[in-house]
Amino acid sequence: MENLRIVILGRQGSGKGTQCLRLGESYGVIHISTGDMLRAAVESQTELGQKAKAIMDAGDLVSDEIINAIVAQRIGMNDVSENGFILDGYPRTASQAQALEEELLVKGLKLDLAINLEVPVSEVTQRMLDRSRADDTEEAIRRRLEIYENETTPLLEWFEDRNNLVVVSGLGPEDEVFSRLKGVIDGIISEN
Ligand code: AMP
Repeated sequence: MENLRIVILGRQGSGKGTQCLRLGESYGVIHISTGDMLRAAVESQTELGQKAKAIMDAGDLVSDEIINAIVAQRIGMNDVSENGFILDGYPRTASQAQALEEELLVKGLKLDLAINLEVPVSEVTQRMLDRSRADDTEEAIRRRLEIYENETTPLLEWFEDRNNLVVVSGLGPEDEVFSRLKGVIDGIISEN
């Protein structure tokens, strides 16, 4: 099939970032992580980074308008057109899902697959506390998970309605989760 275009959903701490990185390498598609892009902007103190820092520290979401513009720009770049993408951490709201769909539509493209990497709240909370990243205070973790349930969980239905959704368990060793994900993606590739 031609280029893969995949979205991976999953709570923060589900192991999504690690798996997306591996999948990107394995299938030769571009891994686009909005969290990584924002952290890089904070690090280099760009205007965007300065705006985003306090929002990220509080565990809130950066505005749809800003994030949609960043993703649209990234998706329009040559490496992504040529190789496809695996989106990690986007879309996170209904408005983002809509913007992505429209952005692809104007290019005559559509998503091949949305995967929900499912890890229960109790497990992701423990994982996040263990990794102790700067923005992983207990309050920010609680806030991020609450926003995930309110804003992002409804997207599961959105993708289900479009026959795009597959649920994969994110429990167990990293290599096992990776094999599960590959199994699902290989299945989609062979169907096309
Ligand atoms: P992540 O690494 O995906 O958990 O993202 C880290 C932080 O960046 C989030 O807690 C948000 O503040 C922000 N962020 C990343 N992706 C998005 C998005 N799609 N929409 C809004 N904010 C985002």
